[in-house]
Amino acid sequence: MNQAVIAIHGGAGTITRAAMDSSREREYIEALEQVLIAGQRVLADGGSAMDAVTEAVRLLEECPLFNAGKGAVLTHEGTYELDAAVMDGATLNAGAVACVTRLRNPVLAARAVMDHSEHVLFAGEGAEAFALSQGLELVSSDYYFTKARHEQWERARAVKGMALLDHDAAALANGALAGQADPIDPDNKFGTVGAVACDAHGNLAAATSTGGVTNKQVGRVGDTPVIGAGCYADDVAAISATGTGEMFIRTVAAHDVAAQMRYARVTLEEAARRVVMEKLPAIGGRGGLIAVDRAGNVTLPFNTEGMYRGLARVGEPVMVAIYG
Ligand code: ASP
Repeated sequence: MNQAVIAIHGGAGTITRAAMDSSREREYIEALEQVLIAGQRVLADGGSAMDAVTEAVRLLEECPLFNAGKGAVLTHEGTYELDAAVMDGATLNAGAVACVTRLRNPVLAARAVMDHSEHVLFAGEGAEAFALSQGLELVSSDYYFTKARHEQWERARAVKGMALLDHDAAALANGALAGQADPIDPDNKFGTVGAVACDAHGNLAAATSTGGVTNKQVGRVGDTPVIGAGCYADDVAAISATGTGEMFIRTVAAHDVAAQMRYARVTLEEAARRVVMEKLPAIGGRGGLIAVDRAGNVTLPFNTEGMYRGLARVGEPVMVAIYG
């Protein structure tokens, strides 16, 4: 039996100590800890890696601090379009939804696609109709609204009309990027959530959920629901990513970590480092990922100033971090 472990992220980007006050920092740390404790409990009770990551991401979607579910960022038109995916490493089963506008918990819809349909990826209205047929909760768009994201969106539109990673948009809104030549550089904004886990049987799973990038074009889909890009699991590793989605799609980032381990026999840590520190930056990709292998090794690399992240091994205290 393995020592089961879960790791989570709440997005990467321009997250600096200077831009964070201590009560805000406390809120993030507590939120991450609560999610980890819940995921750890699922694993401690003998739950599967898939159940643990689904529950962790559902809780992150419920938390307005993160850019998924409640607290999602806005599109250029001021609407919400959410993406999510899950993947089970033991079976290579996967489910995903893209561009959904009315689902309270996109990760539960992704899970329902995996468990109860013959397909892998549903988009838009069809995804919502399927979720409804599975008894999942629909909400009106007001549900996702938070004042903070609305202000970020207004700033992003006002400055240049560009799409921004969530935490970079937040930094911009409170002036942390002031003085940079191009504060709304498209490489400067992310905020997705995700979880990876290895259960007591050594089975792996990953889940990722996002509102996407602030001020994105309507209809834009990032890496999150693209299996192999923002979410992937097999019997070698499970990976969940956050960052400039277009570059994660182009590098097939999540799958690349597992592929390097399988074919080039490199360690989890080295495979993830190459993707995050070499392959993504080579095409201007910013962000990070969390990954676990079947021995329960965990790595959490990122190439931005910070990434909300943490891990919890069953029977041990949870660990949470924000900055580099
Ligand atoms: N990767 C996400 C996307 O491109 C954004 C993020 O990680 O914050 O939609």
